[in-house]
Amino acid sequence: MTAPFLPVCRPQLPSAAAISAYWQESDTARQYTNRGPLVQRLEARLVSRLGLASYTVRTASNGTSAIEVAILAAAGPATEARPYALIPSYTFAATALAAERCGYKPLFCDVDPVTWAMDLVAAARHPLLDKIGLILPVAPYGRRPQIRQAEALHSATGIAVVVDASACFEQLLDDPGLVSATVPMTISFHATKTFSTGEGGAVLWNNPAGQVLVVQAANFGFNYSRRSETAGTNAKMSDLHAAVGLAMLDTFEQRRADYAATVALWAELAAPLPGALHLPPDLGSVYILWQTPTAQIMDQAIGALTAANIDSRRWYEDGLHRQPHFQRFSGPDLQTIPLPVTEDLGGRLLGLPMAHDLTRDQIARAVGVLQSVL
Ligand SMILES: *Cc1c(COP(=O)(O)O)cnc(C)c1O
Repeated sequence: MTAPFLPVCRPQLPSAAAISAYWQESDTARQYTNRGPLVQRLEARLVSRLGLASYTVRTASNGTSAIEVAILAAAGPATEARPYALIPSYTFAATALAAERCGYKPLFCDVDPVTWAMDLVAAARHPLLDKIGLILPVAPYGRRPQIRQAEALHSATGIAVVVDASACFEQLLDDPGLVSATVPMTISFHATKTFSTGEGGAVLWNNPAGQVLVVQAANFGFNYSRRSETAGTNAKMSDLHAAVGLAMLDTFEQRRADYAATVALWAELAAPLPGALHLPPDLGSVYILWQTPTAQIMDQAIGALTAANIDSRRWYEDGLHRQPHFQRFSGPDLQTIPLPVTEDLGGRLLGLPMAHDLTRDQIARAVGVLQSVL
């Protein structure tokens, strides 16, 4: 008899009844829209949680489109003179795809072995700096965004910087001072993130004029008219998704407490593992990462977990530069740039099962399998 399947991620959205309590308003008004009353309520509740001005949070249809409209607002589409977007290779595909949708050619750089993020000091000395029109650092796995360094990079180079902080909602809740006036940050409200609207995202930016451009880019480039005045797309959050988010906010403190209890169990039970165990709150609450001593041990661990019907995930694979679509951006001048840290992390950082209601037995089962390969 095979053991029950243990998924790497097992989100739980609000119940249909809790969502429909909000959605009822739209039904009664027969107003089915996007950026409508429920979206505005969600934005208002988010900024009041953060204690920030009303314009600092602008929602989007998902995390990827949030990156896209933040780029359009902060940098505009790519130009012939500055065709490149500097992007860390160690990230999720959405980061580079969003830049590509805005006309940029991804220019991949390596990451720091400790922070797993782009080195923002080294970025200012990039050999192709005068051809770079956008710098797109990532706060990996919901780690604290290096926003002050990103601001310094922007002011030193004059190049627009947008931070993909997709999994960082909790970091921003705990320190709203991270929300910047000069560097927009984007977050994702996908179901696999700690706070979710089912599908959704947001741009956080303490810049009223910039946020007007974000809203405009997300709405076909319209500005109180039906004429496209800037580059744009349709990236508006729907009221139906906002209803999910409003219901989720009602019980979010409890959700965070449940996650914290599960993290404590992981810390206790996985303590004997060699290598390093990376846990929230350093990471977003949905991630437990085991940094194995060697790539060979990680391969064996994946095999043993799979055989035991336990899911695991190399969330960012081997880096984007290894993925088929992005090979086209390895032009003659680019393909020789080595990315050793990205490749090392890709081979040794393994996502383990996490859920807010994971049990001690489930965690012990996973740890037992990992110990068996050592
Ligand atoms: C989740 C995530 C995204 C994409 O968000 P979606 O809402 O799925 O579009 C982008 N970048 C990173 C780093 C992410 O973790």
